[in-house]
Amino acid sequence: MRTAGFIGLGIMGLPMASNLVKAGFEVTGFDLSADSVAKFAAAGGKPAGSVAEAIDGAELVITMLPADPHVEAVTATIFETIKPGTLLIDFSTIKPQTSQQVAKKGAEKNVRVLDAPVSGGEAGAINAVLSIMVGGEQADFDAAKPVFDAVGKVAALVGPSGAGQFVKAANQLVVGGTYALVAEAILLMEASGVDAKAGLDVLAGGLAASRILELKRESMLARNFKPGFRIDLHHKDMGIVLDAARQAEVSLPFGGQVAAYIQAARAQGMGDLDHSALLAVLEKQSGR
Ligand code: NAD
Repeated sequence: MRTAGFIGLGIMGLPMASNLVKAGFEVTGFDLSADSVAKFAAAGGKPAGSVAEAIDGAELVITMLPADPHVEAVTATIFETIKPGTLLIDFSTIKPQTSQQVAKKGAEKNVRVLDAPVSGGEAGAINAVLSIMVGGEQADFDAAKPVFDAVGKVAALVGPSGAGQFVKAANQLVVGGTYALVAEAILLMEASGVDAKAGLDVLAGGLAASRILELKRESMLARNFKPGFRIDLHHKDMGIVLDAARQAEVSLPFGGQVAAYIQAARAQGMGDLDHSALLAVLEKQSGR
């Protein structure tokens, strides 16, 4: 399978589709943003003017879209013309139930579907080192392996359709919580009059180490909140987390707190900023 139609060339989709081109796939890309399509063409991809054009003749169809309504709408269009037997990989982060619905509709068209949400952020997408959590059938996972190798470092089949999204929800819980605690650590050190940069450097070498401390401490200290990953998208993800917790009848008290911080960031007009902007919410709360 070397020909792919790729829908959604945003912060994540553009570098992922470009890495597929680099790995030798023939990729036709479409996005609502003409600018993104032009950037993809500049990276060696084939530009398309519609979803139908992007998937025409493709052995493989890939989506990387913001949220559930976009995936529902785009896959409905895809299923109108997709060839039976095609593999559809959805990298978007959406509700597990939506992924299961898409897989069910796919099965009616003899289309194999994998939910394959990713972690690693924009840097992970650019450097092709994403972690990919996959829900679906083993044979389809095996067939998708060359795609996962081209865009990521780790790919794991974690269960049937929808399972990838549950694991991604767990991922977003840890990421949101870590951002909130790193932000609180910065606030505490700065307010105590110590050198927060030196402090974070020490933290990054000890048990408090994390990828977030490693990759984001400098931009957080500089209050550079250019996305990256938008607060609005993490808000969507915390909805998925809390919804899954309610259905599983488990209590996630810290997850609820993280969701409240993210909601506060949106209410303060920060929806389009990076999720590290939780620091700004906490600062405001402390009157700083
Ligand atoms: P984004 O908003 O930058 O990109 C989404 C793209 O989809 C946009 O370019 C948009 O124009 C396009 N789009 C929307 N509707 C469309 C349609 N009907 N047809 C064609 N194109 C359409 O978002 P992103 O940051 O790339 O995130 C994409 C997904 O990946 C989300 O589900 C997000 O939660 C997840 N994710 C993001 C990151 C990150 O760090 N940004 C990391 C991991 C996972």
